[in-house]
Amino acid sequence: MAVSSKVFVERFGWRDCNELLHPHSCGRSALINVRRFIASNAKYYIPVALLHFLKRALQGYSLEVLLDALSYYAQLIFGGLVNACLISTSVCALRQALGEFHLYTLLFVPSAFGAAFIAGVTPRVKRLQHTAIFQSLIESLLLQRGNPLTRALGASKTLQTLLFMCCSALILHGKQRRLHNGFWFLTPDRMPPPDAAALTSCSHERDCGSHIAQGVRNYFLIGLAMDVFKMLIGCAKTGLWSLKQLRLESATWLSCYMAIYRTSHCYLKRKPAASDSLKHIIASFLGGLSYLCYPKLSILSYALLEAMRTLWNAYNKNKTNLKKQKSRFGYSDVIFPLALAYLIHNYVFEPGKVSVLAGIIIDSTTANYAGNLQKRMRLLEPSSMG
Ligand SMILES: [Zn+2]
Ligand SMILES: [Zn+2]
Repeated sequence: MAVSSKVFVERFGWRDCNELLHPHSCGRSALINVRRFIASNAKYYIPVALLHFLKRALQGYSLEVLLDALSYYAQLIFGGLVNACLISTSVCALRQALGEFHLYTLLFVPSAFGAAFIAGVTPRVKRLQHTAIFQSLIESLLLQRGNPLTRALGASKTLQTLLFMCCSALILHGKQRRLHNGFWFLTPDRMPPPDAAALTSCSHERDCGSHIAQGVRNYFLIGLAMDVFKMLIGCAKTGLWSLKQLRLESATWLSCYMAIYRTSHCYLKRKPAASDSLKHIIASFLGGLSYLCYPKLSILSYALLEAMRTLWNAYNKNKTNLKKQKSRFGYSDVIFPLALAYLIHNYVFEPGKVSVLAGIIIDSTTANYAGNLQKRMRLLEPSSMG
């Protein structure tokens, strides 16, 4: 249940740090928190660093690859640690400076302040942090169904699929034209050479049947690896090791995605009526139908984020086609602190408004700081929180 600013001050404003935040003094807690934040970030980022290492090691292992993965891991932990330390110490500092807790100085302002630091981390760490938080924000807004558009989207799998198809067309086309450089589930076929023959025939080496079958097999295996990874995490959590927990959701979805995309692309290639770009856009759009195999709001949120990034890159490319100096900072550095502050604030005061993914990210990178605060407030005022 949401609390108004006035009600919050009446119920919690007068309490001190020990009641809401930590058992020891602020200074001692800050020191204890450093150790806890390092441990929670180190645990949380292991799969990310491992995947990064495996991706590069499969292309050719060397000591440099290992050192790069270790350096990335250290950067991820450092970013998460400083972010969490800045948030927790500024919560205490604001309580000391203002003499009481206020609804927005308890978490919103400290979170925005801590998150502003992320603008200064290395580009790859920043990109990962931005992706995780923006995706969680979009998913949370979709879950809230706060306006007619998100209400209609939340209730209709058909609309979600249609939106995913549009995102798929934008992203795959953007990826082929190098307007999108992030991760996407599918790698598009290469752009054909600009000659007349390429207009009415495929540019891949093998015959169409083998080309499609090879793609489907590869993406089935990638999806299978993802499903096995999910099963192992699920088994480790529950302690129940059983093959029954293996669901071939990602394998089915990715192989369908590839099958529809390549089949329609090969089919359209024989039609002379349209330009090559249009054929590729239509095939990418139709491939998005595969969303029906695995209709998850988290996947749709990621697709929306990546589609927006593709559009933004296309806009920037057109605007400054020549002598483009890539700036280290952008609008996303301004939006990120507000997005994280919004998620953390709502995670504590209105947990129903944020996605499960957002809750996991917040608690895993701050050693349950926000989750513990929420529990303490519930204990102090059982009827005040939902
Ligand atoms: Zn304190
Ligand atoms: Zn073909």
